[in-house]
Order: sequence, then structure tokens, then C-alpha cells
Amino acid sequence: MLKSVLTKEQCAGCRICCSFTMEDVWEAPVLTNFQTKEKYRAEYNFKTSEEILLCPMLNEKEGCILGDNKPFECKIWPLRVFRDENHIKIGIAKICPAFSEQSDEKLIELLRGGLYDAIKEECKRNPEIVKESADGYRMLKI
Ligand code: SF4
Ligand code: SF4
Repeated sequence: MLKSVLTKEQCAGCRICCSFTMEDVWEAPVLTNFQTKEKYRAEYNFKTSEEILLCPMLNEKEGCILGDNKPFECKIWPLRVFRDENHIKIGIAKICPAFSEQSDEKLIELLRGGLYDAIKEECKRNPEIVKESADGYRMLKI
């Protein structure tokens, strides 16, 4: 979904978005059991606040084993959807090295090219992707 602004090469060797600490584990995606269709969150058993644990769907050599079936939240990361009273707003994770190079104008253009509509539709189907506002995000005025 973000191929026009994010290449595989930029993500290779980074994978920040597939690893979590105790502080940011709220970012971990909701996964789906493809047999039962049940949604669940993977368990992350941190031993210390500094420990970094990988998403169980991450193969360190091949990347996400879910491929095109990865959760919507992962498909649009480092964009994140936040609640804004009765609406939504879109934030960009400042921690993503690739997106930190992109201007607001370019990202707003990307969203207006159909992505924002796709996100709004997904929010209706899966309201759990809408998060409460958080530090560490650059908000876009769209
Ligand atoms: S943090 Fe950004 S650059 Fe790194 S893997 Fe995730 S999307 Fe790619
Ligand atoms: S589901 Fe895939 S893309 Fe999403 S965090 Fe896990 S490994 Fe990364």
C-alpha cells in the first residue's frame, strides 16, 4: 500500500515495526487465526523494560510470514490511525527512518490518492485499529 514511498530495501535490516518493548507493545497488531477467523493478540512476556521482543509472525530472514495477509495495521505502518473525537486522524511514527524523510505534502498526496478512503473503510470493519493519541507521532493535517 505504501510502495510509492517505501521500498523493500529500506525495510530490510530495519524491522523496527515488527519488534516491541514493554512501552510500545500496544502497537502490536491484532492477528487473525486463519482457520477459526478468531482475532487475537500475541503474548509478549517481557523480562525487563529494555527487552525487545519480535512479533511471532516475523521470520528474521524472510520478513513477515503473512505476506499479503498481514494485518491492515501492518500494511499501513508507519501510518497509524488515531481517534479525534468522532473522527479519525492519521499520524506517522517518527521512529520510522524511511518515513522521517518524507514531507507532509507528499504523504497527504498519497493519502488523498485513495489510501485515506481505504483506511476509513477499514476503521468501520475493524475499529480496533483506531488508537488513542500517543507521543512519538507526527500528525498529518488531512
Ligand atoms: S520502521 Fe519503517 S523503514 Fe523500518 S521496517 Fe518499519 S516501515 Fe520499514
Ligand atoms: S504481523 Fe508481520 S508485519 Fe505485522 S508486526 Fe508481525 S511480522 Fe511485522
